[in-house]
Amino acid sequence: MSSRPLPICCDVHRQPMEMTGCQWGMSLSPPDYEDKYFGRCTREGCRRHFHPEHGYVDVSDDGMDTKRRQSSPCPKGHGSMAIVDFNGEGGPIWRCVHADCR
Ligand SMILES: [Zn+2]
Ligand SMILES: [Zn+2]
Repeated sequence: MSSRPLPICCDVHRQPMEMTGCQWGMSLSPPDYEDKYFGRCTREGCRRHFHPEHGYVDVSDDGMDTKRRQSSPCPKGHGSMAIVDFNGEGGPIWRCVHADCR
């Protein structure tokens, strides 16, 4: 396994999100990742954000909308994992964003 930083992909558009806040692989603990670390889809009109606690959610001017939430909880309790790639069948590959989680 390589340790290169992996992009977090939009679960709708399957393209890497723009990361804000901390970088992938940093050791994160609450409340730091609470509002500092998330991904944002750069596709026009896409409101998908990745939040390490909530997973993929829509964010609008009104705030976070969890109706179309998609997440996959880390088995070690780090919150939601992120989609970093897609397999041959197009299925999402989830990975934990936590640096200590391998
Ligand atoms: Zn998107
Ligand atoms: Zn984890």
